[in-house]
Amino acid sequence: MCYAIPGKIKAINEKTVVVDYFGEEKKARNEFYDLKIGDYVCAQGGFIIKKVPEKEAGEIIEAWREIFFQLQDTDLRLSRLDLDKKNINKKTGTILDRAMEGLTLKKDDLEYLFRLAAPQEIELLFKTANFLRQKYHKNSCCVHGIIEISNHCASACQYCGISRHNKNITRYRMTPEEIIAAAVEACEEYGFQALVLQSGEDPGFTAKQLSGIIKGIKKKAAVLICVSFGELGMEGLEELYDAGSRAMLMRFETSNPELYAKLHPGRALDTRLAHIRRAYELGYIIMTGSLIGIPGQTVADILDDIKLAKKLRPEMYSFGPFLPHPGTPLAACPPGQSTDVLKVMALARLVDAANAKIAVTTALETVDPSGMRQGLLSGGNTVMLNVTPLKYRRHYEIYPNKAHSGDSISSQIETTVSLLKSLGRAPTDLGIRENAEDH
Ligand code: SAM
Repeated sequence: MCYAIPGKIKAINEKTVVVDYFGEEKKARNEFYDLKIGDYVCAQGGFIIKKVPEKEAGEIIEAWREIFFQLQDTDLRLSRLDLDKKNINKKTGTILDRAMEGLTLKKDDLEYLFRLAAPQEIELLFKTANFLRQKYHKNSCCVHGIIEISNHCASACQYCGISRHNKNITRYRMTPEEIIAAAVEACEEYGFQALVLQSGEDPGFTAKQLSGIIKGIKKKAAVLICVSFGELGMEGLEELYDAGSRAMLMRFETSNPELYAKLHPGRALDTRLAHIRRAYELGYIIMTGSLIGIPGQTVADILDDIKLAKKLRPEMYSFGPFLPHPGTPLAACPPGQSTDVLKVMALARLVDAANAKIAVTTALETVDPSGMRQGLLSGGNTVMLNVTPLKYRRHYEIYPNKAHSGDSISSQIETTVSLLKSLGRAPTDLGIRENAEDH
């Protein structure tokens, strides 16, 4: 199984290379390999992660060639804007037309779109986002894996089921050997080429130990490693970068500083943002976003979340619904709504059409079993599968009934690949943000 079709290098400009995938060109950054025009490579998240021998690349490309063009046709058909606009309010049509022309939408326009209530108008918003996704990114879709390496956590996030509030949880910490083995298995047996390593803020892992684990994985597998361990401090970020990680997943959770302080006792939004900004400066690609429907959040906050996320120049946006966990202070609060999350994904696509890679989150799939499909049809183009060993997975309960807690890796792959095929999506790299080359 291969989650990144190899491409052929067409041009090289210092660290940036242009890779051709069946006639589509995407840029990627090369740090580790001695490359020349004509070489075959696999890229993930806009990074060259391996050079592929010509014969092997040729075989994979040939195996995909016919299906790739069929997938492209399917995607094109599904992303056509063929809705009857008869029942669409004129204002909705005008704002969405402006978005399609690449004009900047004002905050009032975004608020108007977020508040849409008529099903046919919401549908048009989602379809516009899907149209723009196809226009700029074609049918590429990233498939990442996530390994939840520990559920120990020293922080007290009011919403999180693994925070230190929760006394009724079995805590686990995978050993470095187990983490390396799980990562190597995900890459070698299942074909993953980008892995997120995530945990609570676990004092049981020092940055030095985490670096050792990253180096251990990099020694055995060609993979883009994304770290998601929370606020490690600036030195910690540097250490993990030097060890070979190149991406960081850290949501800012909410752009409202007062709400942030209430939800995260003893913490400040500025500190979280300082980590994200420093990681960007160091050269990490950034994956960020917020919780939608978190108690105390207003519509204005949600629109500010989209604006802040864009300002942070993310390689990937990650917006998911808040889901109440019984072991937390927010146990009795209502969950975030899947339609609101889909609207946020669609708006993120409208405001950052050419750059946005937008994740479909597991939390969205948890509130709505058709969430992955809906998300991919509302601007989304990245999915994450859970490759944490099954014996630990159910204990990483940040919210209850998490989708895929009991699904084997193969069954997740099977369902996802068949969904992606039905939507005409292919695992070619999405390339890097336009302004990320001079990193
Ligand atoms: N410790 C890392 C950090 O601070 O980013 C990563 C682990 S944290 C559990 C990962 C993400 O889970 C958070 O960014 C948060 O948005 C999400 N999360 C936690 N509790 C949640 C809940 N009850 N509902 C939905 N998402 C939740």
